[in-house]
Amino acid sequence: MRSVTAFATPGAKRPFEKTTIQRRDLGPHDVLIKVAYAGICHSDIHTAREEWGPAIFPLVPGHEIAGTVEELGADVTKYSIGDRVGVGCMVDSCGECENCLAGDEQYCMKGAVGTYNAIGKDGRPTAGGYSTHIVVDDDFVLAIPDGIGLDVAAPLLCAGITLYSPLRHWGAGPGKRVAIVGLGGLGHMGVKIAHALGAEVTVLSQTLSKQEDGKRLGADHYYATSDAATFEQLKAHFDLIVNTVSAPLPIDSYLSLLRLDGVMVSVGAPPEPLPVQVFSLMNNRRSFAGSSIGGIRETQEMLDFCAEHGLGAEIEVISGEQIDEAWERVVNSDIRYRFVIDTGTF
Ligand code: NAP
Ligand code: ZN
Repeated sequence: MRSVTAFATPGAKRPFEKTTIQRRDLGPHDVLIKVAYAGICHSDIHTAREEWGPAIFPLVPGHEIAGTVEELGADVTKYSIGDRVGVGCMVDSCGECENCLAGDEQYCMKGAVGTYNAIGKDGRPTAGGYSTHIVVDDDFVLAIPDGIGLDVAAPLLCAGITLYSPLRHWGAGPGKRVAIVGLGGLGHMGVKIAHALGAEVTVLSQTLSKQEDGKRLGADHYYATSDAATFEQLKAHFDLIVNTVSAPLPIDSYLSLLRLDGVMVSVGAPPEPLPVQVFSLMNNRRSFAGSSIGGIRETQEMLDFCAEHGLGAEIEVISGEQIDEAWERVVNSDIRYRFVIDTGTF
């Protein structure tokens, strides 16, 4: 075991405290990563505030991790000391079920092991990236290509892959009209990636306050959902709608914006159930779907794609002491567009 510094929350809605946690000794396939930056995802907040169910405390969140390799287990060949690496939302899976074998470890039939708030293979609760170091099995470590700064790369490990995966799966590209609902951490990466894939991109945001940003990030069109005229104007318009909103939305209104065979994918994860009229789906043979992060192979593909297209997150870098304040701002949609914690400040 080795002691490392971390920021942990001792209970739901309790402020963060600087503390010391134990990381396991390196097994033959483990990589010790010196964390440089950890993004703040809205899922950290849902989890720690127990909006999705009971959490394990003290909780060290963080599943958008970028750093460098500090030590290697005896059998690791993929990485060398000093390599720039990342870790996303999962640190293990069974590796044997059909979904794992297909490269969809996030849908492991025995349950992928979360980077935090889960029980790791050593039988201890996992602890995430709000810490100076993390030990991770090399199969769950990603290579961060040269050319993307570690600070702007960190949010790609969750926000980036969570949008890349459904955009690729449902064929976002030239000739496709794609809407991104919510211009937050996930949404702004969705705009950048959908634009780079060649789709016609529309942002559906609560107001027009971020319109200039949205266009700069790659949106062709921008509408306010607080304006009822938006829903009239865009009826049966989109091939694909990706909903990143962390609160429940009136799903039928959004489904009405899909053209024939259009798909609405929810990646936003409000705890409440969402009512849907079957008629909204029958009309235009629409689908309503969900999607969870992406597999390891696809996450590496996303990182390489982002490097090739010069994409990273738009970030605001903070210190460990500013986490509580940053969380409040995320909840109030007051962030353009991702907080990233500089673990050098711990
Ligand atoms: P975020 O930065 O807070 O962004 C969410 C955006 O939704 C806000 O910026 C805001 O955009 C919009 N919004 C917020 N409250 C709203 C409301 N009451 N009504 C309408 N729009 C509202 O959060 P995030 O980190 O991107 O995460 C978004 C959601 O995705 C969370 O629920 C998170 O848990 C989930 N998530 C899912 C996965 C997955 O694998 N599926 C992965 C990561 C995160 P505007 O100001 O533009 O309206
Ligand atoms: Zn996340």
